[in-house]
Formats: sequence, C-alpha cells, structure tokens
Amino acid sequence: MIRTVAKISLVLLVIVALPLSFYLVREFSTLTKNEKMVQRVFSTQLESILYSVNQYSENVVNQWRQSLDQPVAPGGDVEKGLVDNLFQNNRSVLAIRFLDLASHQVEAEYFNSGKAIRIDEWPAPAEIEKLQDYLKSNYQRVDSKMMTDSTLMLYFLQKNREGEHACQLVINPRTFVLQTMSPQIQQIAQDLFFISVSDSTSGSVVYSTEANDELAGKIEKAAMWYFPSYQLGIRLKAKTLEELASERTQRDNYMLIGLTIVVLLGLYFVIWNIRKEMKLAELKSEFVSNVSHEIRTPLALISMYAETLLLKRVKTEAKQEEYLHTIHQESGRLTDIVNRILNFSRLEKNRLKYQFSMVDLGELVPEIMVSMKSHLEASQVDCRFSSQVDQALVYADSDVVKTMLVNLVDNAIKYSAEKDKKIDIRLVKKAKHVWVEVEDNGIGISSKNQKHVFEQFFRVTEGDLAHKAKGSGLGLNLVKRMMKTHGGSVALRSKLGEGSTFILKFPVKKQNHA
Ligand code: ADP
Repeated sequence: MIRTVAKISLVLLVIVALPLSFYLVREFSTLTKNEKMVQRVFSTQLESILYSVNQYSENVVNQWRQSLDQPVAPGGDVEKGLVDNLFQNNRSVLAIRFLDLASHQVEAEYFNSGKAIRIDEWPAPAEIEKLQDYLKSNYQRVDSKMMTDSTLMLYFLQKNREGEHACQLVINPRTFVLQTMSPQIQQIAQDLFFISVSDSTSGSVVYSTEANDELAGKIEKAAMWYFPSYQLGIRLKAKTLEELASERTQRDNYMLIGLTIVVLLGLYFVIWNIRKEMKLAELKSEFVSNVSHEIRTPLALISMYAETLLLKRVKTEAKQEEYLHTIHQESGRLTDIVNRILNFSRLEKNRLKYQFSMVDLGELVPEIMVSMKSHLEASQVDCRFSSQVDQALVYADSDVVKTMLVNLVDNAIKYSAEKDKKIDIRLVKKAKHVWVEVEDNGIGISSKNQKHVFEQFFRVTEGDLAHKAKGSGLGLNLVKRMMKTHGGSVALRSKLGEGSTFILKFPVKKQNHA
C-alpha cells in the first residue's frame, strides 16, 4: 500500500505541485518586474511635474525679458518706467543694468527701492558670442550665473538692439522662490504632493508646500533651471513611490503564499484521503477473511457433531448430550457473529432502531452478567461486579447496553492468558455521568494501538494472542457508535502486558435522544 500511495503522491506532485511552483516563480519574478515598471512610471510622472515648475519660472523670466527688451532710449524715461514697473511687481529683482557691449560701457543702472549693490560681472566674450549665435537662430536665450550666495545674475542680449546690447538682472533667488513661485508650486502640488525647494549643497529647505520635514525622506529631485544652487524635490503626500509599489507587491505576495498553502493543503488532504481509503479497503478485505475464518470453525463443529448424531454413532447418552450442547453453543456463536455484522451494517445505514427507556444500570449490569454466567464459567473467568451507587439511572436501550457489555467481556476473555483470567466490572458515579468499567488482566494494548482500536475493522496484529484470537475488528467500533447515540462515550486505559479497562460513560438521566 505504501508503494501505491507513494506513486499516487508522486503523480499528484508532478501534476499539481510542479506547474504550481513554475507558476509561482514566474509570478514572483513578474511582480518584481512590475514593481520596477510602476516605479519608473511614477518617477517619470514626478519628473514631469517638476518640469512644469521649472517651466513656470522660465515663463516669468521670459516675461521680464520681453518687458525689458524694448527699442527705447537707454536711461530714458520710458526705460525707467518699464524698470520701475518690474521692480514694483517683483521684489526678488534687486537691480537691472543695460550694457553696451561694443563700447564696453554700462548704459544705465537701476536699483530696486534705491538700494545700490555692487555689480562687477561682465559677460565673458565667449558667452556673448554664444548668445549672439543663438539670437541669429532666433532664440533669445537667458543665461544665469550665481554671483554670491544670495544673488544670482540673469542676462540676455537685446534683440531689438541687434544683439549689441545686453541686459543684466540681479535676483535674490530666495525671494523669487518664496514670492513668485510659491503660489504656482502650491497649485501644482494640490493635495497630492509635497514639493520643496532646497539648497543643493547644504540641503536646507528654502520652501516647502507643507511645514513638514518628512520631505527629508525619499524624494524625487530635479535641478532648477535658472538657480543652479537650488533643487526641487517632490514626493506623494500619502506614501512614497517605493512604499506604494512595495505595498502592492506585498499584498500580491501574501495572496500567492496563501494560494500556495491552500493548494498544498488540498494536495495533502487528497493524499491523506487516498491513504485512508486504501487502508480501509485493506482492512475490509482482512475483515472478510477474518469473518470467514471465524464462521468456519463453529460451522465445521456443528456439521461434524450433527452428522455423528444423525448416523447414530454416539454410544452413551452423556456423549450425545455433550454433542448437542456443543452444537447449541456453536450455533450461539454463529448467531453472535451474524448479529454483530448485522448491527454494524444497520449502524452504517443508520437503520438500527433504539428503544430508549429509563434504566437502572445498578440492576441491568448484574442481570447481564447472570445471562453470561455459563459463558463465563466455560471460559474459566473470575468475573466480579461492584457498585459505588445504589441507583444509577440512565436513559438507554437495555438490549444495546447488553450488546456493548457482552462485547467488552468477550474481548476481555479473548485477549487474556489461559489461566487466572479476571474481569472486574464496576459502576462508578461521576458528577454528570455513570461509568461502567470493565477491567481485565489480559495482554493489554500498546499506546500506539490504543488510538486505533475503536476504528472499524482495526485489529491488533502484533503479539501471539492478539494474532491468534478470532475477530472482525468491528466490536469496539460498534461500542463507540452505540455510546455516541446514548449521548456518552467510551474510553480506554491500558498498559501492554498488564491489562485493559474499557469505560462506558453514560450521561445521567439524559432523555433527549433520537
Ligand atoms: P475483534 O473482533 O478483533 O475483537 P474489536 O473491535 O472488539 O475487534 O477489538 C479491536 C482490537 O482491539 C482487537 O483485535 C484487539 O487486538 C484489541 N482489543 C480489544 N479488547 C481488548 C482487550 N480487552 N485486551 C486487549 N486487546 C483488546
């Protein structure tokens, strides 16, 4: 049987477990791939949001460029008006200079709120050449350069004055971020993102959409186009990309692990069931051979003695009586066997009818013992009864109680040595139960087998006596089922080589049976 089970397990393993493990490995690797892809998509999205922030600063700078690149007289009132207007609307612009590149002269110089600052910067010839080239291709580029820690210079060539003149703007980047850019950043961030502007060298936050230093965590970064010393940072408000992606992957992983466990449990259950069914089939075939064996002996005896009697070969009357007695005894044994099998089959089909009534076990048990007297005597058993109670009222079927007790006593006789057989039957009163204990000094049952003796068709095969004694392996299973119908149970205490005690536990006065 073990080989068959092993074969079936192997086949199941090949059919289920291998494809499953292949599928799982594939799923796990796809998940990691997916996670990476999600991260990539997220990063691109966040980058494009930061791009739009940069785009906004470019728009502002372009507006300044357009308003300052007018064909007006340098230092004149119109120019002054334009500059004043720009100063008023943009506190971050600290100074504006117009340069004549050909003569290397400062044409005009303006300071916001009259606060003069020293400006030594002059665009390098190579830079001017580059900007002029751009201008020829119709691209009026604005360049930026850090002057000090807190000032930045923006400069461009004036298109309207043939690129021979340049305009310089001195900016305070911090004020630019806080005043000009912050409303736009807030709008872009909405409630979804944290966006920050921080110093790229020191890391100190210049501006953030939330007064929250969680931004120091995992954030996506991008340089600010016009402010080389600043960088933009962004992250999702609720969770970081990694957290979101790994949360999803984790959930999927748990589901996969759960699925694996369910499939493996299913597999285990299938194998376990096959094993059980095969064991039962084996036990059933053993049962058939056991029963045939058990029936054969009484049948042979009956037929032999009946034939001898019929042929009138028996000389004395005493012998004749002995033969008839044996026939009677053996046919009784046959009836017992057949009854047991019938009972079992009725129990199997739920067809056994019970006649419940209030029974006093204190009276019933001794009565049953009396009915078994001749059997006990023939088996040379010292059988005693003792009771701790005067009255032990239970709701039971007295015939079924008799069947159970006869079964237990029969076993006690069968599984005891030839000499000094002793059976103690005791009535013990417990809180809510009455116990009928049947103790013998027989061969006992090993703890390994104790777990199985109540299973149908189970018989102990180890040991000489257990092996030789005839039986069907149904008796104790019948007792167990019958006790269950009585609302009680059967228990066993036993020690190999010392004896066994079977205990029928009846609930006291329980009347609600089917
Ligand atoms: P069987 O017809 O084989 O006696 P049972 O269901 O009555 O079937 O018992 C199952 C097995 O339990 C027996 O084969 C026997 O090995 C063991 N057994 C039952 N009663 C006793 C006992 N009193 N002492 C030792 N072994 C017992």
